[in-house]
Amino acid sequence: MADFLVASGTVGGLTVVLLLVWRRARGSAPGRWRLAARAGLALAVAMTVTGAGLYQLTKSRSLQLAGELVRRVETEERVVALTFDDGPTPEYTDRVLQELEAHDAAATFYLVGAAAEDHPDLVAAIVEAGHEVGNHSYSHPRMYFVSSAVVKREIERTDEVLRTAGYSGPITFRPPGCKRLLTTPLYLASTGRTTVTWDLEPDSLPEIADDADALADYVVDNVRPGSIVLMHVMYDGREPSRAALPEILERLEADGYRFVTVSELLALADR
Ligand SMILES: [Zn+2]
Repeated sequence: MADFLVASGTVGGLTVVLLLVWRRARGSAPGRWRLAARAGLALAVAMTVTGAGLYQLTKSRSLQLAGELVRRVETEERVVALTFDDGPTPEYTDRVLQELEAHDAAATFYLVGAAAEDHPDLVAAIVEAGHEVGNHSYSHPRMYFVSSAVVKREIERTDEVLRTAGYSGPITFRPPGCKRLLTTPLYLASTGRTTVTWDLEPDSLPEIADDADALADYVVDNVRPGSIVLMHVMYDGREPSRAALPEILERLEADGYRFVTVSELLALADR
């Protein structure tokens, strides 16, 4: 919602400036030019408003046009869902699994279908360790301004890969880069899928992304019961995120938090 307020404020300010300019020009311009200018201005304003609103909507963490979206759940229980986007990658999956196991923590891995298809053994290892896997599309495209056929293929193919690798639990969806607009939410709604975003994304913040301690501090300071945390631990360049993981697990555990999968978290939501 904050995204929308910023967009509306910007557009509102722009509109006022344009109207003031138009009012100044009004006295001297002939009637028909004035009318054309007025129509042009109205069109520009409408396009700006629509464009800004739609752009904000494509990446909103808390709002989408159709289907159920969960960013965090309301609960008094000290539970948190750690979620890892992308992969699986052979270089880092095992290490992440070991760190989770050391703290008896469950997590949710939003896997890319193509990578999961290349590494069904890694998907199986994640599942056997008791974690949940989610659908993060097949080829990680931006899922706005894409046809319904592309959406269907990206989503269904990925579910199929996860099932083939041996996963039988619930599958929620997380849009790549959180990008979607109309066709993706409509398809998710029509097939009863839940979109899961997050309320904390420490390694998306450039000022702390390269500092493991700062990442851990950020999570510990901002987590709430029912939080969903997004981290990227599957890439070479994300060593600070991997290094932050044991610290996050240890400190949240000391704070009385329990680590649950996204589906477990959804089931714990106060209704
Ligand atoms: Zn991703």
